[in-house]
Amino acid sequence: MQARLQEIRSHDRVGRTTGELSGARWVDRFRGSSSLKDLRGAFRDRAEAFVEALRAAGAVVTISATFRPPQRAYLMHWSWLIVKRNLDPVTVPEMNGVEINWAHEDAEGNYSRQLSVIAARAMVEGFNIQGLGVAPALRSRHTLGFGIDMNIRWNGVLAIPDAYGNIVQITGTPRTGMNVQLRRVGESFGVIKYNRAGRDDPHWSDNGT
Ligand SMILES: [Zn+2]
Repeated sequence: MQARLQEIRSHDRVGRTTGELSGARWVDRFRGSSSLKDLRGAFRDRAEAFVEALRAAGAVVTISATFRPPQRAYLMHWSWLIVKRNLDPVTVPEMNGVEINWAHEDAEGNYSRQLSVIAARAMVEGFNIQGLGVAPALRSRHTLGFGIDMNIRWNGVLAIPDAYGNIVQITGTPRTGMNVQLRRVGESFGVIKYNRAGRDDPHWSDNGT
């Protein structure tokens, strides 16, 4: 294994063997935001207008994520692959500005895949991504400042103005962000419900991805 590490060290893109060891402490670094203020440019204003309209109409909006630093996405992506797809921790590529060492050593100073996986698992649990069916994306609308995860709910009929000031009476179900009528209201503001393959129930963005 030592020979293998030497070999990998000779490449400059993978197999960092210096820096701070991986583990749960990394979960508190490069923190993500749940504030609309951390969204980018015009999309921030559109998202604020949509959420304000929702709340004024009586909906309960709980925002869990907006901007996610690319460094955090990197930590989530690779720890997930190590734990859920059996990726060898020593093969994780480096990211500039993230001085993490994914390769733990045993008491004799040899690379320990087992200890390395244990440390990655602590990160996956800290990020609370053990239930995901795919690896968190390295680049997404969140890392660019154009994505929001939010839980939306209301009781009865939701009467909400669209971006043009027309009141829309939302009578159908579900009374959540998955409601088709609400989706159209969001579109009028330029806030688009996730519309690609699979499900991402809380996710809205500038372009539906
Ligand atoms: Zn999202």
